[in-house]
Amino acid sequence: MNIKENLLEIKSTLPESVTLVAVSKTKPVSDLMEAYEAGQRIFGENKIQEMEEKFNEMPKDIQWHMIGHVQTNKVKFMAPFVSLVHGVDSLKLLKEINKQALKNNRVIDCLLQIHIAEEETKFGLDDTELEEILELAKNENFNNVKIVGLMGMATFTENQNQIKKEFLHLKSIFDKNQSLNTQNCKLNALSMGMSGDYQLAIECGSTMVRIGSSIFGTRN
Ligand SMILES: *Cc1c(COP(=O)(O)O)cnc(C)c1O
Repeated sequence: MNIKENLLEIKSTLPESVTLVAVSKTKPVSDLMEAYEAGQRIFGENKIQEMEEKFNEMPKDIQWHMIGHVQTNKVKFMAPFVSLVHGVDSLKLLKEINKQALKNNRVIDCLLQIHIAEEETKFGLDDTELEEILELAKNENFNNVKIVGLMGMATFTENQNQIKKEFLHLKSIFDKNQSLNTQNCKLNALSMGMSGDYQLAIECGSTMVRIGSSIFGTRN
């Protein structure tokens, strides 16, 4: 696995407007450093403790994205440094992030995770829950979180039409809420697409792709 080559190859195919999150979960710091030395500054992790360990060991100009499901009792460990939380899927979690961000005197950027897949197992808000959370975010004083976009994961399937349908669904929700523009809510980022489907995701309007195995190799 040549991490640098993989990274540069992928970056060369991405439109300039698309942000690459290098998903480094389970990989050792030495692998992340290869990507860092090739210019990568945004890394995605799905476990808070692992992200914290890597944050402590690595250069401080890295932006750490939490892409996994977040338990509210662990928010405090990432609040001092996390740069973007992709998987906000409840009001309870948003409130906790706001509380911990306040303690750290920060504003933490968040994406709301939308349930677009067929699988029940995947996390995310449904349409009604999304409306509720956006409504509350507008009216309540969540001064220490900023909702900057949406995130979703397509069904795990080979069926490209199915995946495309789900991505377009998410894009339509994103477009529908473009008029929102408050101090703590403005949807700029659409995080969708992983190693297997990022090209399709970009065709469907993704502005942020989360790519792991195509950069770092398959995980155990
Ligand atoms: C692991 C993970 C990815 C990256 O998956 P790859 O298929 O390795 O690119 C992207 N998004 C989330 C939420 C993940 O957990």
